[in-house]
This record gives sequence, structure tokens and C-alpha cells, in this order.
Amino acid sequence: MVTIKSKKEIEYMRDVCKVVALTYKELEEVIKPGMSTYELDKIAEKKMRSLGAIPAEKGYDIGVEGVPPFPATLCVSVNDEVIHGIPSKNKIIKDGDVVSIDTVALKNGYNGDAARTFIVGKASKEAQRLVDATKQAFFEGIKYARAGMRLGDICHAIGEYVHSQGYSVVREFQGHGIGKQMHEDPGIPNYGKAGRGIRLQAGMTLAIEPMVIQGKPNILELEDRWTIVTEDGSLAAHYENTILITEKEPEILTML
Ligand code: MG
Repeated sequence: MVTIKSKKEIEYMRDVCKVVALTYKELEEVIKPGMSTYELDKIAEKKMRSLGAIPAEKGYDIGVEGVPPFPATLCVSVNDEVIHGIPSKNKIIKDGDVVSIDTVALKNGYNGDAARTFIVGKASKEAQRLVDATKQAFFEGIKYARAGMRLGDICHAIGEYVHSQGYSVVREFQGHGIGKQMHEDPGIPNYGKAGRGIRLQAGMTLAIEPMVIQGKPNILELEDRWTIVTEDGSLAAHYENTILITEKEPEILTML
């Protein structure tokens, strides 16, 4: 069921999403070569808690046998890791690494979700182009994110843009509605047909999240049962915001 948020709920969504935006602001300022992904995670957790929120991914259990609850505040996925990388003291960020971070905060019973990809230190031309295109894919998609449009219009715009840049979209994971639950209806694939799917209504809150691979779209799950990597070893990037559908332009809740 797709939920339409009330005025009060929208206030809570704005508030928790601001926590996520401020957490990324801090991460952007501190991230540098030589840090472990664990250090980044601790900084994010501290920031979130200082703003009255709880890291919603920490302890998140998908309820599948053999898959442990996610142990951290951040998913940190480096280079060929696409999503759901687990922070570790042994994982040191190097100059030129492509670091995709995804996190969800919970406050007053509502969730805010966003992802950013940082290139740490000196970026290669190829990496920079991938990261820029992934972010742009989000903005191409949300051109259609307003009341009266169809969900498929967003999905189509993202997929078309990514393919026009010579990249692949991940097909096994998708964006989603968000609110009291981290993942609500509708599912929002990063590809699709224009003019299809549910009609968007003011008051919907959606997490739109292009996951883009430099090479072929195939992915693999690592033995930790969380980390998703590209099969061909090529780079991946991720960009996400929680948005509010209105009668006009969408409000991007997880940007300052
Ligand atoms: Mg996310």
C-alpha cells in the first residue's frame, strides 16, 4: 500500500531527512585517504545520535535465514562494491577510491534515506564521469516526480539517461516508498516504461536511488551475505534522496 503522508507526518519526514543531510555534510568534510570505513561509520553514528535520531540500518534484519542483521550505521561500498558494504577497521580508504555511502536515520517514528558517492583524493576521469552521471540520473528521474505523473515516467527517465551515458543500472535492487517503514510501496526500479505504474500523488514520500555500474549490469553477493559487487569488477556508484511529491516540483528532503 502506498501511503500518503499528512501534514504532521511530512514535518517528521522533513526533520529526519535533515538529520541525514547533516550527517552527509559531516562525512563530506572528514572523509580522506587513510581512514577506515569503520571510522566513517562511527562519525556518522555519533552525528545522527547527536541530532536525536537512531541509525536505522544498524541491526536491520531482512528476515532471511543465514543473513545476519546489518551491523552498522552506514553501508560503505568501495569501488566495485555496489551497495551494502559493511564498514570495517581493516578497510582503509585509498587515494582515488570511489566510496558509495548509504544510510537511513529514524526519528519520531519516521525514516529518512539517502546515498552519496564520494571520490576520495584525486579522481580519475572515468570515476568522476560515473559519479556525475549517477547523480544526474537522479535529477533526470525527478523531472517527472510530481502529482499526476506516473511512477514509470521516473524509472524510464533514469534508465534512459544511464544507458545514454554507456553505463548499466542494477536491476535486482530498487528505490522505494519510505515513511514509518524504511521500505514501503511502491518499489521504484531504475528502469521501466514511461506512462506505466501508479499515478503520483502529493504527500507521497519516495526514496529514488540510481545504482549505476560502469560495465555490465551483473552483480554478485559476497560471503558476508550483504556486500553486493559488480561481477566484472568495474566501478559502481549510488546516489539517493528521499523526496516529497507535491503538485509542483518535488521537495528533496535529504538535501540542505
Ligand atoms: Mg538508502
